[in-house]
Order: sequence, then C-alpha cells, then structure tokens
Amino acid sequence: MTAKRIDGKIIAEALRARVAKEVAELAAAHGVVPGLTVVLVGDDPASQVYVRNKGKHTADAGMRSDTIRLPAETDQQTLLATIGRLNADPGVHGILVQLPLPAQLDSLAVIQAIDPDKDVDGLHPVNAGRLAQGLPGFVPCTPLGCMIMLEGEIADFSGLEAVVVGRSNLVGKPIAQLLLAKNCTVTMAHSRTRDLPAVCRRADILVAAVGKAELVRGDWIKPGAVVIDVGINRFPLPDGKSRLIGDVAYAEGVEVARAITPVPGGVGLMTVACLLANTLTAARRRLGLSG
Ligand code: NAD
Repeated sequence: MTAKRIDGKIIAEALRARVAKEVAELAAAHGVVPGLTVVLVGDDPASQVYVRNKGKHTADAGMRSDTIRLPAETDQQTLLATIGRLNADPGVHGILVQLPLPAQLDSLAVIQAIDPDKDVDGLHPVNAGRLAQGLPGFVPCTPLGCMIMLEGEIADFSGLEAVVVGRSNLVGKPIAQLLLAKNCTVTMAHSRTRDLPAVCRRADILVAAVGKAELVRGDWIKPGAVVIDVGINRFPLPDGKSRLIGDVAYAEGVEVARAITPVPGGVGLMTVACLLANTLTAARRRLGLSG
C-alpha cells in the first residue's frame, strides 16, 4: 500500500482562504481590520525572505501588515521600547519578533515583553502555560499546522498512541500538548531516548521534529500510521544550491504509513497560514468574540 501524501499546499490555501473570508466579515460587522506587525532585527538573508513572505500573505488575507526593521546593532532597551509601543497600539493585534535575534539580544526577555494576548507566535511562557492547562491562548504556528493536517486524516484521536520525536518549546512540546488534549497517549522522544526505532514503532501518529535528515526510517513506522514530518534540513547540491529534506526517509515511509507529509510541500507551508489564523483570533478576542 502506498500512503496518501498529505498536501500542505492545498490545506494551507484552504486555511488562508477561510481566514481572508472571516477577515472581510469582521471588517464588515465591526469595522476592525486585524493587524500583524513583524519586528526584524538585522539583515539575516533567510529571515528577510521569511518576513517578506509573512507580509505578503498577511496583506493578501486583507489584514494590515507592518514590518519594523531595526539595525543589527540594536540594543535590548531599544527593542523592548519598540515592543512596548506595539503592546500599547490598539491597531496592532499580533506581534511577531523574527528569530533568531543577533547575539547581543536576550530572546527570552524579548518574547516575555510581548503582551501574551498579542503573542501570535505562541512563544510567551504565559501561552505555553495556557496550552498546558487547556486554557484559550495562542499555540505556536507550526504545531497548530501539524494538528490541522492530522485532523484531516483522523476522525477520532481518542486512545491513539502518539509519539513526538523532539522536545523543543517551539515544536515538540506544544505538539505533544495538543495531542494530549485530543486524548492520545503521548510519548515524547528525544536525543536521550533509548531504542528510538522501537518507541516510534508504537505510534499510530508519529511526529518527527528533530532536524536530522532522514533520521526516521521506513522500518521505524508502524504500518498504517499517520506521519507528520516537521524537519527542514538543507542538503547541499554540487551547483551551490540546496535541496530540502525532512526528518523522515519519505520514499521508505510512503510504503508503510497510511498518510505522510512530504518535505518540501508539507508542514512548512502551514506555518504562515496559521500565523494569519492566530492574528485573526487575536483581533476577534479583543472584540470579545470567541477565538
Ligand atoms: P531543536 O533543535 O530546538 O530541537 C530538536 C529536538 O530534537 C531536541 O528536542 C532534541 O532532543 C531532539 N533530537 C536531537 N537529536 C535527536 C536524535 N538523534 N534522536 C532523537 N531526538 C533528537 O529544533 P526545532 O526548533 O524543534 O526544529 C526541529 C526541526 O523542525 C528542524 O529541522 C527545524 O528546521 C524544523 N522546523 C520546521 C518548521 C516548519 O515551519 N516546518 C518550523 C520550526 C522548525
């Protein structure tokens, strides 16, 4: 049996279209246009591309999109003052500080300075706590995208064995919380896990968020499992360009799984769409509407 390829392009497009429709409805009913401000410090080329992409999709969805560009040598106080202004600005519903920040800046302190109700990246410890306690908050965009993909494949999560490989605050931990909230039996695996292949073979749902190209082999996958590959690994090509490879050996996994996300064309495309969804949610909640 060949697995279904879970197509991130189609799912992300559908989500962006739904957000755009709801943005227009919110503007018509309440006269409020959701606004996202991205703060970019320095001129890291990859960050520039990400920020441009976020700005374009935000504007395409009918939302207000602003980017504040600060020089690489910006000090902590200046950045915190910028965030303070955005926290106080009622036209700004979502604030995203593009990471990584230059070395002189303290990322955790910067994230903690963002109003948790504008933290559409879901990285503030208050939002991590809300997620852990099942309270409304903001979930980081990539894990949210993974869950939307899983919900398209699985009708009833209750009692399923889920294994999440990777325990970062950005990806692994929030995905595990979301799966737990769906009544899965969740195992978190990481670099110190003993016999990782055997742990992975238990999984009805296997999420790989490690950053090691093709770590997960076909014979680590339980036949019929749904596999979500979050990994983005750059494989250099002789012509100086690079190819993206996931954490799962796709050609092997596709022969064993029931459904699997490709890299590229999978989870990566969901992240920005979920950022738009979170920004819309922030604007709705400010109006006292349900998120
Ligand atoms: P991270 O480096 O913060 O965390 C990696 C985790 O993998 C750690 O918890 C570590 O314990 C675990 N790990 C490392 N080596 C391991 C091994 N040999 N076996 C088992 N576990 C191991 O990375 P992250 O920020 O969580 O990102 C993970 C991957 O997801 C990266 O490839 C990253 O580029 C990608 N990513 C993709 C998106 C997206 O939009 N698709 C977003 C964020 C991250």
